[in-house]
Amino acid sequence: MWVCGHSERVAITFALVHTAAGMPIRITKNIRISADCHSWVKIVSMVTGRVIVLRDTNRFHHFKGGACTCKDYW
Ligand SMILES: [Zn+2]
Ligand SMILES: [Zn+2]
Repeated sequence: MWVCGHSERVAITFALVHTAAGMPIRITKNIRISADCHSWVKIVSMVTGRVIVLRDTNRFHHFKGGACTCKDYW
């Protein structure tokens, strides 16, 4: 499901596999995250119970329990 050409999904999936359960995940993107991936990361944060911090060119996104601190405005 993450094979879509969006590198942030690959990076987050990799981090999920290679970090201990409960560890927050930090990802840095040098381009703006797509709306599609933003929704995907929210679902991942809900399903896995992980905190995911994603920094893109404009701001930080702090995903937790299926929500993002940017309130879907970025
Ligand atoms: Zn994307
Ligand atoms: Zn966000």
